[in-house]
Amino acid sequence: MIARRRDGKVHTRAEFDFLCAGATTGAIPDYQLSAWLMAAVLRPLSLDETAELTMAMAESGERLDLSRLPKPWVDKHSTGGVGDKTTIVLLPLLASCGLTMVKMSGRGLGITGGTIDKLASVPGFRTDLSPEEMVAQAERIGVALTGQTPRLAPADKALYALRDATGTVASMPLIASSILSKKLAGGAETIVIDLKCGSGAFMKSLEEARRLADLMLEVARRCEVKLVVAITDMDQPLGSAVGNALEVAEALDTLSGRNPEGRFAQLCLSLAGIALWASGKVSTAQDAAPIAEAALREGRALAKASDWFAAQGATLNLQEGGHALLAACSAPVRRDVIHREGSRFVQRIDAAAVGDLVVGLGGGRRRKDDAIDPAVGIELAIEVGSHLVNGVRLATLHARSEADAEAAEAILRRSIEAVEEPVIPERSALWELVS
Ligand code: URA
Repeated sequence: MIARRRDGKVHTRAEFDFLCAGATTGAIPDYQLSAWLMAAVLRPLSLDETAELTMAMAESGERLDLSRLPKPWVDKHSTGGVGDKTTIVLLPLLASCGLTMVKMSGRGLGITGGTIDKLASVPGFRTDLSPEEMVAQAERIGVALTGQTPRLAPADKALYALRDATGTVASMPLIASSILSKKLAGGAETIVIDLKCGSGAFMKSLEEARRLADLMLEVARRCEVKLVVAITDMDQPLGSAVGNALEVAEALDTLSGRNPEGRFAQLCLSLAGIALWASGKVSTAQDAAPIAEAALREGRALAKASDWFAAQGATLNLQEGGHALLAACSAPVRRDVIHREGSRFVQRIDAAAVGDLVVGLGGGRRRKDDAIDPAVGIELAIEVGSHLVNGVRLATLHARSEADAEAAEAILRRSIEAVEEPVIPERSALWELVS
């Protein structure tokens, strides 16, 4: 298969089944899987091949049977970004609006964080639910999330971990098949994809993002599952926190109704509206907005998050927002980064640089078995458009050592572009809806 991919030959479904079985059982060694992945990046899979790899990965394990659960069965997935903690808000928010949310999430990939790594920072939170536990929990409280276990899309689990460490993430067919195979195995009937676009995402331009959206829509059509794709901004980090525990804390604060007008909360509400509309719960996206806002404002989303965290074993009092988590999981060094270059306006915060900085602090992996430090990361105190004067705090770094904080500060300062003229920020992080 490596040689056939290298030479541009077309793979058959039987070949993909062989690859997935070998990845799942370990019969194909990592070095051969990695070589095939690199060949597949350089010689991208065709649409037919992408659909076949998707099915082969989805069928490499079991597929959840949700037939006992109330409809609609909805899932959401992000293509990966910097500071993207949207799932932790959306799952309980949508479950509190009556959707059944059953989701399989991934670990961090490259500079983008993964929901599983984020939730692993919560004391007691289990990310290894069995298929039976997933269905039973969703039946009780309407929401369940697991990482990739050996029983659900195990071939994607093996390939995903290798891609992270071999420079083989940024391939549209590999991204589309990885995401959709997990979604098919998870059993949902409506899927909302949050397709991140910008410097901190795998898709750097809107044109590329639209091409990936079209590819995913076509693969989903062949696999007979309903898909909508929201293209959203990843040119600057999403929200203020980047780093595992810090991001969970920000998500919990958002669920507590703090900063409801902020870009992150607004994106969560827009995506919630899209999910409510796409699943047929309401007839227009406009009807959906007040429903999602009320669930957040009236505390129903936070109450659902409490049920969800408790059901998955977390020993955290969610009524305190993110405080309790940050008290339980904090880094030894905290450093404020202060502006001292006179009056300026923030024009750009390079999301890729911030993501890389957090990996450098120990919040992401450079090799597939690297341990993650849940406590490290950054809390940005500014966003595009902020006015800087001397003494303004740009960010707080959470690091393992002064040397790590020093290196991160230098990267952060380089990642912020500031100009003398006021900058009008683009308010909405939602750019386009493709369905
Ligand atoms: N998320 C996934 O699950 N897979 C990818 O390949 C990229 C993002």
